Amino acid sequence: MTSSVRSSRGNPFSPPAPGMRQLTRVFLMVALLGTGGCAYLLGPSEPPPPPWDAASPPPITELVELADVEPVEVGIPPAPNRYDPDTNVIHYDVELVIAPENDRVSARTTIRYTREVRGPHTMALDFTGMSVEAVTWGGDVLEFTHEGDRLEFEAPGSPGVFDTLQVEIMTRGAPTDGLILRENVHGEPSAFADNWPNRAHFWFPARDHPSDQATVSFTVHAPEGRKVVANGVLVEGPSPASPERAGGLEGLMSWRWENRVPIPTYLMVVGVADMVVMDQGLAACGHAPVSPREDGCIEVTGWAFPPDTAHARQVFARSGEMVDLYVDMFGPYPYEKLANVQSSTRFGGMENASAIFYSEDAIASGRDIEGTVAHEIAHQWFGNSVTPADWPHLWLSEGFASYFGPYFWEHVEGQLVFRERIHANRDRYLDSDVTHRPVVDEHAENLLDLLNANSYQKGSMVLHMLRWVLGDRAFFQGVRRYYQRHAGENVVTQDFQVAMEEAHGEPLDWFFQQWLHRPGYPEYEVEWDWDAGGGTVELKITQVQDEGWPLFRMPMEFEFLLDGGVHREIHLVDGREWTRTLALPGEPTQVRPDPDGWLLARFR
Ligand SMILES: [Zn+2]
Repeated sequence: MTSSVRSSRGNPFSPPAPGMRQLTRVFLMVALLGTGGCAYLLGPSEPPPPPWDAASPPPITELVELADVEPVEVGIPPAPNRYDPDTNVIHYDVELVIAPENDRVSARTTIRYTREVRGPHTMALDFTGMSVEAVTWGGDVLEFTHEGDRLEFEAPGSPGVFDTLQVEIMTRGAPTDGLILRENVHGEPSAFADNWPNRAHFWFPARDHPSDQATVSFTVHAPEGRKVVANGVLVEGPSPASPERAGGLEGLMSWRWENRVPIPTYLMVVGVADMVVMDQGLAACGHAPVSPREDGCIEVTGWAFPPDTAHARQVFARSGEMVDLYVDMFGPYPYEKLANVQSSTRFGGMENASAIFYSEDAIASGRDIEGTVAHEIAHQWFGNSVTPADWPHLWLSEGFASYFGPYFWEHVEGQLVFRERIHANRDRYLDSDVTHRPVVDEHAENLLDLLNANSYQKGSMVLHMLRWVLGDRAFFQGVRRYYQRHAGENVVTQDFQVAMEEAHGEPLDWFFQQWLHRPGYPEYEVEWDWDAGGGTVELKITQVQDEGWPLFRMPMEFEFLLDGGVHREIHLVDGREWTRTLALPGEPTQVRPDPDGWLLARFR
């Protein structure tokens, strides 16, 4: 995502103040097995819902009054060992009813999962801020507990290893985050999901961790006149929804989207609003293995609010060209289509798999967000398809998008334009207040704090410097190898290091340690002295950065301005003090270290 643009209208769903974090409630279902009814939290006057059998799914809860359910704070990392490593979700099927008033939703989430060990078990899911109305299993109502952000139930029976297990969870309420229900920038009702880092469980029950990837389908029953976009392919609709299916509401339209490639929950989204859909051509032809089209291309579309279509069409116009560049550089496009969507994301852009969401204000105000578009499209390969297994490795997502997004301009406008963009990243990191922390930061108290100049700008400079150390050929070979080896998988920084070491043919631990696992950057004091008698210049480089930061080892280029022209040499500079005596054809008028700006450093 890009974090630089925040909605100027404020986010009504910002996290509650610390201290409000836990208002713990226990919703213990009354055991109703054998009574033919279902416990609802609406009091005794509520009529019981019709019974169902295992073949037909249980109904979605009617959208009546809302239960008062306190959410947990947004962005809190899960406790270690929260997730049972033996359990793996394979599919989420979320059926969602949006009330015409746009103030509440009702949903049935069907979760299919497997376990690596046989026997009875407790299934624990993340879910907060909305009420759980029922949990069912093959038509049977289960007891459950729902405290804070944890929904738990005992799975019935004694399943075998890798049996596919299925549970349905009926929920309703007004999500306080994750699915943002509000008026859009034009005062029209809109609902857009915005899940990073772990805000999916504010609107559907999930194992809300990037390491548990699954396929997902969304069936959305939305008021007529609003369009629905989501990950994957539209497989049904829009068609009139039967009130029985739509939580008892009349006049809704049903849309069903299926995403058949496993993705992490933070990328699973729907968007619902009055939007114009713009056909913006085809891309990745012959290099989109999961495209449903016979010609093997993906469809590129833009989705914008009616008053903003002209500008949206313009800022999204080169999306197909960006996709084709990244296909050439890295490998096949990993998803079924690409939709660029104006939305209420709290970020400048959010790279949701195949349905990228952009700040509605940025587009409505006519801002040029083409840099954001390239950044989010680059994420489809890095971050989405190759996904960090845990948040401390976020730079594998944001650093890559912050490098290969600007790289599009190297491709279309040349290296100088690209360098300008990368040097803006460098300067932003150097001026930031996170230089005392490492890029791979295991100690963030709130995951949102990781959206910083380490993950983005320093991450992009790490790639730039790796390109300098390895040269273009080995660098791009390594990045390509890393993508193709790990597409569809979770990774940590070590996986990238291994791929780059293979491309380089030499160990790179020194590089990864100093730049990613330790804080800071080098500050070089450069001195030189011309010896006219010997025809030599003595160069002295002293590293004067903070004592707590590493001493850096890097190849550095020097440019000597001479009477007769320019002379350049590259030397490996390391240690607190480094000196060399170099023969030159004449006295230099100036010595410039790192003239092309490959290094993340300050020079004095
Ligand atoms: Zn990003």
